[in-house]
Amino acid sequence: MKAEGVLPTIGSKFDQLTGLYNRESFLREAAVLLGARFDVDYCIVCMDISCFKIINDLFHTSTGDLILRSAADYFTKQFNPRTTISCRTNADHFILCVPTEELKIEQVINDLDKIIQDLHISHNILFFAGIYPVDKRDLPVDQMCDRAGMALKRIKGSYLTRYAYYDAKMREKMIEDLLLVGNLEIALAERQFTIFLQPIFNPRQNTVVSAEALVRWLHPIHGMVSPGKFIPVCESNGFIVRLDRFIWEEVCRFQRKRLNEGKEIVPISVNLSRLNFYSLDLPDFLSFLLSKYDLEPWMLKLEVTESAYTDNQVQLLDMISTFKNLGFSVLMDDFGSGYSSLNMLKDMPLDTIKVDMAFIRELEKSERVALILKFVVQLAESLGMGVVVEGVETQRQCDYVASLGEVAIQGYYFSRPLPMSEYEKLLEKYPLAPH
Ligand code: C2E
Ligand code: CA
Ligand code: CA
Repeated sequence: MKAEGVLPTIGSKFDQLTGLYNRESFLREAAVLLGARFDVDYCIVCMDISCFKIINDLFHTSTGDLILRSAADYFTKQFNPRTTISCRTNADHFILCVPTEELKIEQVINDLDKIIQDLHISHNILFFAGIYPVDKRDLPVDQMCDRAGMALKRIKGSYLTRYAYYDAKMREKMIEDLLLVGNLEIALAERQFTIFLQPIFNPRQNTVVSAEALVRWLHPIHGMVSPGKFIPVCESNGFIVRLDRFIWEEVCRFQRKRLNEGKEIVPISVNLSRLNFYSLDLPDFLSFLLSKYDLEPWMLKLEVTESAYTDNQVQLLDMISTFKNLGFSVLMDDFGSGYSSLNMLKDMPLDTIKVDMAFIRELEKSERVALILKFVVQLAESLGMGVVVEGVETQRQCDYVASLGEVAIQGYYFSRPLPMSEYEKLLEKYPLAPH
């Protein structure tokens, strides 16, 4: 509670309600403290209360005020004011700069729980803490607070974990996400996205049967960024729909270029992220691409994953039927990786199964996996479908897969995904399968 004699005035160093420092003076005082006590390890602790706004709504604001003052009182009594400083920044946010040795965080949280219980407010009020152990003394104090804040944000909403320590990975992840979201539009406009092509082989004939287009981000500073990093972000904000269309068009342009040069081509398959299936003009767009680049439908294949099936089966069936009517082949990507692979196979008019890489990974470890793979190939054959096995990396894996029947192989054993020019060189070296 506020002491007599430190009555706040406008522009004072103190928070009017609790008598603790306010944010500005905390930043100043903490910088002085950290500078003066170089021999002592410190932590910055950010604390707040679950659903504080609701408490203010449900009860009178005086109840909220009482909670905040009680917490502030505790901090003042619990920590030595010569070595620790604390502030309330706004609402229910407290920040402490405390010697690591003196910080018993579990005890602090337990004590606060007890103090709040004793106020007899009929609501579950919990304190949460994010802690940044100061490892870079020259960092501005507000950035130290941001780091503690990041740790706090990570546990917000979980009732089991009441505190978390900052680690460098949190920051990297946050920066990455921010950079990605801000840069996607620019990247597309500046043509930083490009395709790599991974050839797909027939191991018995030693021919190239097709290829898959895989997006790559050639970032001007970070270099090549793999889709594993940015596709999930693109999917969560809807950008994937535009990115996918861009990739399909690049593939069409590439096929047309080769044809204009009088060269042979094999079909190239493209990935259709599940969000595409919400755009009803999808078949029109694909038809438009074919006519713009004067291509035939067999030159472009479409890969669809099970997640599209789980989203909306009726609409997906409609779309796939339309693709088929337009003359496209449709492949089922990552077969066996989800829960509905067999259902999707049962319900959808698909042409080819692409067996998920996980099967090949397990092949040598498990006799059962080898049997399942054999069964999948037989199943596809009896349904009149093609099979591609993904992720083949060794001669042994290739030999086993080839022994199962007419199976195509995609994997590092034959080729990694290649830039277009290298893909073209590879096509010179191998006979191409007739389509
Ligand atoms: P996917 O469609 O299953 O693509 C196959 C992935 O396996 C590719 O990863 C490829 O580089 C990798 N791969 C191929 N052979 C091997 C191998 O022998 N061993 C190993 N360890 N990996 C192999 P990539 O290029 O990183 O793409 C990852 C995923 O990102 C793709 O999985 C696909 O789901 C998504 N993706 C890539 N390009 C696009 C795109 O243009 N649009 C959409 N919507 N998704 C894309
Ligand atoms: Ca794929
Ligand atoms: Ca796949």
